[in-house]
Amino acid sequence: MDEIKEVSLDMRDYIVSSGAETLSWCMQCGLCTNLCPWRQVTGEISEAFNIRKMQRLGQLGLEGFEGENILFACVTCGMCLVNCPRKVEIIDNVKSMRNTTVAAGFLPATLRPIAGSLHANGNPWAGPQEKRAEWQEGLNIPAFTEDTEYLLYVCCTSNYDTRSKKIAKSVVKLLQKAGVSFGVLTAEENCCGETIRKIGDEALFTKLAESNIKLFNGKGVKKIITTSPHCLFAFKKDYPELGGEYEVMHYAELLGDLLKEGKLTFSEELAKKVTFHDPCYLGRHNEVYDPQRELLQAVPGVELVELGRTKNKSLCCGGGGGRVWAEVPFGERFGELRINDAVDKKADILVTACPYCIAMLDDACAGLEKGDVLQVMELSELLCSASLPGGL
Ligand code: SF4
Ligand code: SF4
Repeated sequence: MDEIKEVSLDMRDYIVSSGAETLSWCMQCGLCTNLCPWRQVTGEISEAFNIRKMQRLGQLGLEGFEGENILFACVTCGMCLVNCPRKVEIIDNVKSMRNTTVAAGFLPATLRPIAGSLHANGNPWAGPQEKRAEWQEGLNIPAFTEDTEYLLYVCCTSNYDTRSKKIAKSVVKLLQKAGVSFGVLTAEENCCGETIRKIGDEALFTKLAESNIKLFNGKGVKKIITTSPHCLFAFKKDYPELGGEYEVMHYAELLGDLLKEGKLTFSEELAKKVTFHDPCYLGRHNEVYDPQRELLQAVPGVELVELGRTKNKSLCCGGGGGRVWAEVPFGERFGELRINDAVDKKADILVTACPYCIAMLDDACAGLEKGDVLQVMELSELLCSASLPGGL
């Protein structure tokens, strides 16, 4: 006979007090589960993870949600929020359930080194702090001062990862070409903390965020340009709770404005069929859909085609909520579906604007051996090659 599980209202109250204020609003209709990308793939994780059921377990304080393939499977993509009739803050509920589990000492083995590196180095990539600025060599990027208009905050991934450093370099070249007043603080910064907060380590997020806020305020930062939509989310939506109030833009938003003002032009022709993958944290979470498309359409020769699942219906790459470090078997990765979406549209280039999306889509493209028909590019890389002879 199955073990009898007991309802624990204390556990339910603990989850609610950790931030799941809308947990009781859920009426168990299951619309969220239907929209969840885990329903688009098969396999062990897909079978284990059901967001409707997970919330029911939370409502009753029942055990059973703590497993890695359940509690830590959510990519925080926000797709489920689009259709919830009760406007349940599903991601906040997931985050709170994770908080209670992480506070009890349970963190999946794949995420322990990430938390360890954030504690020790201030970034999740085990990179020494002094190497954070290595990619800047030869680019003549000034340090941020009170006379500088924007702080350019580069995502940890693009500070340390060889592939991702190209994103940081191309953003810098575009800003320089358009004459933007910007500077960096690089070696003094910590990770923005967005992902570790979604993973459920609230104390570590607070430590990172407070350190950044102290630094930014001390240097007189008022406006921030981010290279990653995840940093955009943290600075816009998380930092104000801790007293960090800034005007924050993803670089695509600023470049879109510069295009309209005639300060950015593209002279190099690119006769290619291009499609855009909306990153969840740029699109659904921050509602930035137009600038990136306007920029792509401004490149001579580019034919922009939309993917079937686009804008607020975009399919997650699989890299949010800490999942960029998860091990998902080949054949069960959302990124593979996304590559197939682009190939079905006969696109030559799949463009996106997020370092996590690039990592996941590059991986999927290589795994599916589609590199001969489809190129994955970050928006800044494509724009850089269209605005400067020779590109990067
Ligand atoms: S869609 Fe909303 S109300 Fe329906 S099960 Fe999901 S969270 Fe609950
Ligand atoms: S945020 Fe995304 S992955 Fe998480 S439950 Fe909602 S739809 Fe599924």
